[in-house]
Amino acid sequence: MNESLTARLRIKPGQHVKLARHDPDFTGPFTNKKDAKDATKKNLDKLFELQYKMYAENKHSLLVVLQAMDTAGKDGLIRHVMTGMNPQGCHVTSFKKPSERELDQDYLWRIHQAVPAKGEVGIFNRSHYEDVLVVRVHDLVPKTVWSKRYEEINQFEHYLASTGMTIVKIFLHISKNEQKQRLQARLDDPLKHWKFSPADLGERKHWNEYMRAYEDALSKCSTPHAPWYVIPANEKWFRNYAVSQILVDTMSRLRMSWPKPTFDPKDIKIV
Ligand code: AMP
Ligand code: MG
Repeated sequence: MNESLTARLRIKPGQHVKLARHDPDFTGPFTNKKDAKDATKKNLDKLFELQYKMYAENKHSLLVVLQAMDTAGKDGLIRHVMTGMNPQGCHVTSFKKPSERELDQDYLWRIHQAVPAKGEVGIFNRSHYEDVLVVRVHDLVPKTVWSKRYEEINQFEHYLASTGMTIVKIFLHISKNEQKQRLQARLDDPLKHWKFSPADLGERKHWNEYMRAYEDALSKCSTPHAPWYVIPANEKWFRNYAVSQILVDTMSRLRMSWPKPTFDPKDIKIV
């Protein structure tokens, strides 16, 4: 059942994604928050063990790319899923508007520097996909430039995968109405004011263009070595569960093992 949820949320290579056909309210096998939270807790325990093994074995690495519209829950997801991991061997990189220095380099330069080393889990809060999303929606480079990037990104990710990196790409899918409610909540609650940015309202006006840009990125860049997953994210508890399940399934497939000692413990006497 669980593996099939992972398979169901994965975009098949070559699949033509229409986000209107992906229900952001979908909650899979769950009808209530409590059951989903219990199942998530079990997954986080498994994730802790899997990540610890990855760190000990120092052979594989895992890159988790997170993309979403504002308020869809990238930060909340990171908070929930990270609690299932040891901070040693796990790091988050948030990609903001590129600096002058970064703009003078190729767009993958800053990305490559942040990928996880062997034994590590790296989480990207936004990523190189912004270079075919915000950049496309706001015409920050000509179409002749951004339209080549899908293939460049596929080649880049293929190269990373060939070095032993496992790549999982997560799109948190919320409805436009859900975003409206979450933005309103940020205005209504003084403790959430810090999360509100008037610029988010400007981006919201481009909702349909963003959906089209996401559909292209999801359709063109879901590959066997770096699949995209579309996560129904209107319900936060399902969002957290679904991502925890995908990570458990992905890491379990690596067949990691604890490293064998290079000594025989029986031969060693501590005096
Ligand atoms: P936040 O994640 O809410 O802190 O916002 C980061 C902002 O940086 C978002 O508005 C992104 O669209 C923007 N950003 C990230 N990467 C790029 C990029 N490559 N080019 C332009 N803007 C970007
Ligand atoms: Mg923001």
